[in-house]
Amino acid sequence: MGKSSVLLIYTGGTIGMKTDPATGALVPFDFNGIYDEFPSLRRLDVDLDILPFEPIDSSNVEPKLWIKLATIIQEKYNDYDGFVVLHGTDTMSYSSSALSFMLQNLGKAVVFTGSQIPIGVLRTDGRENLITAIEIAAAKEDGRSVVPEVSLYFQNRLFRANRTQKFSAEELSAFASFNYPALADVGVGIHYRYGVIAKPEGVFSVDTSVSNEVAIVKVFPGLTEPLLRTMLSAEGLRGVILETYGAGNAPTFGWFIRTLEEAIRRGVHIINITQCASGSVNMDIYETGRRLQDIGVISGRDMTTEAALTKMMCMLGRAYTHEEFVGVMKRPVRGEMTEE
Ligand code: ASP
Repeated sequence: MGKSSVLLIYTGGTIGMKTDPATGALVPFDFNGIYDEFPSLRRLDVDLDILPFEPIDSSNVEPKLWIKLATIIQEKYNDYDGFVVLHGTDTMSYSSSALSFMLQNLGKAVVFTGSQIPIGVLRTDGRENLITAIEIAAAKEDGRSVVPEVSLYFQNRLFRANRTQKFSAEELSAFASFNYPALADVGVGIHYRYGVIAKPEGVFSVDTSVSNEVAIVKVFPGLTEPLLRTMLSAEGLRGVILETYGAGNAPTFGWFIRTLEEAIRRGVHIINITQCASGSVNMDIYETGRRLQDIGVISGRDMTTEAALTKMMCMLGRAYTHEEFVGVMKRPVRGEMTEE
């Protein structure tokens, strides 16, 4: 069998930076020169093609980047065994979650990675992240990709992308997946957990529909009626991620429930996501959760905010009826929530 082929798409972020000797500041380097920065990359037993975009800090990511990535993966799908996307860490969980919803019936690995320290700095974490992400994207068994889903590799662990959150601005192990086990652990070898990796099914297709008529509203002690009312009456608003307490609880004040109810009646979809890093929304437990359920708030169960938001953005972009949209938000479509 020949070598595996991987397309490495560089979008920006810390990984593609080095210190400018003149100023001492970190600046992006021309990614076409990655082999000069990192000569041992040539030793990988993989046919690697590099596609650099104009680098951006991932704080500037907009849905058009997701569409561009999904479109390129669609166009090049038959040319490569796998794909690696280098991306800034700040919004990597958003972008990789969005891609997981745009790419349907994926039969090849799409691995996102980046780094906390630039690849052009001696103590970088980027080299290991990059090399291992490429190895994972290239990995095949019986001619099939070992991880046929959108994943995120960081500091020795491979995660299902739509289960991740960036939880540390400091630690090299910056990402976590609190509600789903790692797909692989990396030590001396790469240990895949086959039982938790998605199985490919159906024919690969791409749907890049996306809507940004959404908002995240975080409940906090002291939230006022005028503020909530203003946020929920924003023009064009179609969907809200309501970040609640604990197991999906929110105030039972009359004005609070009424304001949400009015928005739902106007056709705004509201998804309940917990502010806790791990665990799930369960609106059956407390009165404070039941009231939300009664007025038609949808349980986001154990989805991350990043997955819930990007799922909602992608599903709002599709021509679903109200009932279809509610149905699709309530069930896992890419393993982003635990089955009931
Ligand atoms: N601000 C950078 C970004 O997200 C941070 C990083 O890449 O780690 O683009």
